Amino acid sequence: MELILNTPKKDVLGTPIERDGVWDWKVAFESWECPELAALLKPCPFCGGGFTFHQDVDYWHSGRIMKYQYYLHRDKYKKTGDYCPLVMIANSAVTLPAGDARPEDGYGGEIVEKWNRRANREATPWQ
Ligand SMILES: [Zn+2]
Repeated sequence: MELILNTPKKDVLGTPIERDGVWDWKVAFESWECPELAALLKPCPFCGGGFTFHQDVDYWHSGRIMKYQYYLHRDKYKKTGDYCPLVMIANSAVTLPAGDARPEDGYGGEIVEKWNRRANREATPWQ
């Protein structure tokens, strides 16, 4: 499956941090999306909304590259523009961790199996 570059590699003015006795700082980051992986997840049970799959990559001055993968719930109902109850309870962006996802293989990660385990239902009245 294809990753789509969401945010081109950007330089950042990172704050130096000490890690294992070595000073390091983030020099750049980029952000990718994969709609095919996002399509593997069932919609949100509260609002029927979907998720987007993100892979964020941080580049450090030391050469270290760190990837963060997660599914991100959009924050509002599609039709009414109201906030999803899940987002309101979390009081922040709702993300599902997907560190083990492999976009290149089309594997969405263990979270997809867990999230999709619930019973199927008809569309919610909000859709
Ligand atoms: Zn929702």
